[in-house]
Amino acid sequence: MDHHDLSDDERELARLVRDFADEVVAPASYEADRTKTLPMHVVAQMGELGLFGLPFPEEYGGQGGDYFALCLAIEGIARVDQSIAITLEAGVSLGAMPVFRFGTEEQKQEYLPSLLAGEHLAGFGLTEPEAGSDAGATRTTARLEGGEWVVNGAKQFITNSGTPITRFVTVTAVTGEKDGRKEISTILVPNGTPGFTVEAPYDKVGWHASDTHPLTFVDARVPEANLLGERGRGFANFLHILDEGRIAIAALSTGAAEGCLEASVDYARKRTVFGEPLSTRQSIQFMLARMQQRVHVARLAWHHAARLRDAGKPFKTEAAIAKLTASDAAMDNARDATQIFGGNGFMNEYPVARHYRDSKILEIGEGTSEVQLLVIARALGVA
Ligand SMILES: Cc1cc2nc3c(=O)[nH]c(=O)nc-3n(C[C@H](O)[C@H](O)[C@H](O)COP(=O)(O)OP(=O)(O)OC[C@H]3O[C@@H](n4cnc5c(N)ncnc54)[C@H](O)[C@@H]3O)c2cc1C
Repeated sequence: MDHHDLSDDERELARLVRDFADEVVAPASYEADRTKTLPMHVVAQMGELGLFGLPFPEEYGGQGGDYFALCLAIEGIARVDQSIAITLEAGVSLGAMPVFRFGTEEQKQEYLPSLLAGEHLAGFGLTEPEAGSDAGATRTTARLEGGEWVVNGAKQFITNSGTPITRFVTVTAVTGEKDGRKEISTILVPNGTPGFTVEAPYDKVGWHASDTHPLTFVDARVPEANLLGERGRGFANFLHILDEGRIAIAALSTGAAEGCLEASVDYARKRTVFGEPLSTRQSIQFMLARMQQRVHVARLAWHHAARLRDAGKPFKTEAAIAKLTASDAAMDNARDATQIFGGNGFMNEYPVARHYRDSKILEIGEGTSEVQLLVIARALGVA
């Protein structure tokens, strides 16, 4: 279906990304998934296309676009490969965006150009073994000592934290106490800092080619100037970043849901059962129609949230609704697509099988579905 509300530039970007996804991303996907490795040549080409710089001003090497443009690109890539789409999503909204939003001019000049060019990646370390949905339960600490932050603690499930081009991870850490409450700040910890260990990658159900590690910090020392944003504002700043990230995850989910739909329509036309194409069965037609319905509604939901965000209007609830709607759409479409493909749908050589494994995390990462429901319930004044 047509993206009815796109400008000419946006249409052009969507077309460019679609071609890139089909010609460069998709051919590498099966092997990357099988070997659980991030294909660095694909990351490099995304960098050359300017995708990592989409929503940033040109003065830092960005493309001068908006968040909507970034989400369009993420959607277009997720259609064929969620691992590559999340690498872009996390690279921009979790890696570069906190520096752009909260960094000093010096930090921006230092870190943004290479992140926006896709030459470096950065991670965002919020989740800990004892602090996930309840992110304020952070136990990692950072104390100031002789002009340095000394970081101790552990983070888990951190995307893009251990790629060959990862430059640093931004972590939340308790830096003190204020009015009886934890003071949480964010600190940039460069990879290679003594005492900072990127542990072995996880053995995940899906998103195999995406880079995810546990991190440990034992007296990891970084300069005092590595504080990102105001001391004590770390938690609030992270929540803002997550609100925005949810729109991008909704776009990613929409792309996944669409990839499943496209593959299913194609398969149902070609596959013969009982002497006729599978697509002649009304039960299959209705399944495909439902899949289309989900893609459409998911897309409208993220478009709406992204337009609000870019217009500088409140978007927290809309982002939560978009993420909830679109992640359900991806999961439902992946399940239906696998069913339509029959036994082939359970074979990894078919991309729908990969979407089936990959989609579950969409209902968990950057705020679980229950957390989105809490956000929506709060806006209703009942939670
Ligand atoms: C592949 C992958 C990549 C990730 N990348 C990153 C990253 O780059 N950076 C980062 O910081 N984190 C990352 N995460 C972490 C992710 O954001 C968390 O896993 C997620 O927020 C859930 O936290 P948790 O795993 O601790 O689950 P928990 O918070 O323990 O939740 C367990 C269950 O309880 C439910 N629940 C929790 N609280 C409530 C409540 N109040 N009411 C009702 N139900 C509730 C949840 O919805 C969930 O169903 C990643 C995770 C994965 C798997």
